[in-house]
Amino acid sequence: MTTEQAPAASIDPWQVAQQQFDLAAERLNLDSGLRRVLREPRRELIVHFPVKMDDGSVQVFTGFRVQHNLGRGPAKGGIRYHQDVSLEEVKALAMWMTWKCAVVGIPYGGGKGGVIVDPKKLSQKELEALTRRFFTEIEVLIGPERDIPAPDVNTNAQIMAWMMDTYSMHVGYTVPGVVTGKPISLGGSEGRNEATARGTVFCVVEAVRHLGMELDKCRVAIQGFGNAGSIAATLIGDQGATVVAVSDSIGGIHNRDGIDIKRVIRWKKEHGTVQGFPGATDISNAALLEVDCDILIPAALENQITSRNADNIKARLIAEAANGPTTPEADQILWKKSKFMIPDILCNAGGVTVSYFEWVQDLNRDHWSEQVVNAKLKEIMVKAFSETLQIAQRDSIDMRTAAYLLAVQRVADATAMRGLYP
Ligand code: NAD
Repeated sequence: MTTEQAPAASIDPWQVAQQQFDLAAERLNLDSGLRRVLREPRRELIVHFPVKMDDGSVQVFTGFRVQHNLGRGPAKGGIRYHQDVSLEEVKALAMWMTWKCAVVGIPYGGGKGGVIVDPKKLSQKELEALTRRFFTEIEVLIGPERDIPAPDVNTNAQIMAWMMDTYSMHVGYTVPGVVTGKPISLGGSEGRNEATARGTVFCVVEAVRHLGMELDKCRVAIQGFGNAGSIAATLIGDQGATVVAVSDSIGGIHNRDGIDIKRVIRWKKEHGTVQGFPGATDISNAALLEVDCDILIPAALENQITSRNADNIKARLIAEAANGPTTPEADQILWKKSKFMIPDILCNAGGVTVSYFEWVQDLNRDHWSEQVVNAKLKEIMVKAFSETLQIAQRDSIDMRTAAYLLAVQRVADATAMRGLYP
């Protein structure tokens, strides 16, 4: 079955990731041996581990760590806690990390991890126990020179602190460089918390300029109101755009005259969802994607824009803060409708870029100011955007294909230069 025929919820992200890779490999006329190597992950670890719950019972959880490619450096990628995590999803996310690190030119390969759990159902004590035991189980792959995790959906700076402490207790000394996205007090970087959203907004500013639009006249809809989505809403508002719709896993809200994001953040803290916010109308997540706006920022999960709804999207510009929100079939529909897509491997690379800065600071026992971090981030994002755009214009192709050509070529070159061992 192609992803086209599958219902949105059952679209396999790994199939999507491989499809995207195949397209780039074909265009690059990549050697068939290299194709076979880059098409599969290098390592896949599945762990089943026990956690003692508050009521005294023992539960067994399943988690994953996947390293897709290590050609350009150690594996890098977040850890996700979500009830729908699967090996296929983690494999796709790991492959996307390989391309993402290559697009922005930072010296990492791609990795990703996840645990099948709804963390909202755990107490703080259970969450810490799960985190420490999971990290212990995947430690066979982890290390500051080998594989460096970071936050993703439902994981945060506190969870990174527990992971860093667990690793440090095992080796007997403090190793801040083993994870990124840590609290500042433990070797975290200034600007890391905002980095994904900031990188997205840098890309949006560049795209708006390229398209001859004016940001202060743009209306923006954002799906997902966590780290990436809520901060993107704040930062794009600071740039003069009007945010007209936002959503979370419960649903969305819409006001064509604009939404006060600071107040929505407070409302969500108090009520657990953006829905019910006074001064806006409740809408569904599906409706959010189709609202009348100029810029759409998916910042939640995979497979949100599919062949079923791509035709109904009004936004001229789509900026993928989330990983894998658009299926290949939807990409084709959007391209035909002259929509401008900033693909995930470019658009949300700000997070891993500042993770790289954090790791460099940790290894050097250094600490940079937020101003320095943001300036370096801007330089990298603007360069990556411009290199991608040049390829898109040169070959008359969409930005996703262009970003893949850039990334896959870089990884293929590194892999080929290293040669085949033994
Ligand atoms: P998060 O846990 O902070 O927030 C996720 C948000 O998505 C929450 O508001 C949640 O309610 C919402 N959500 C979940 N399911 C939804 C659904 N079906 N419809 C609408 N909203 C839904 O996670 P995050 O770190 O902001 O990650 C969001 C996306 O950004 C993911 O795709 C992640 O891989 C990607 N990303 C994150 C980072 C990072 O540094 N945090 C970096 C790169 C990419």
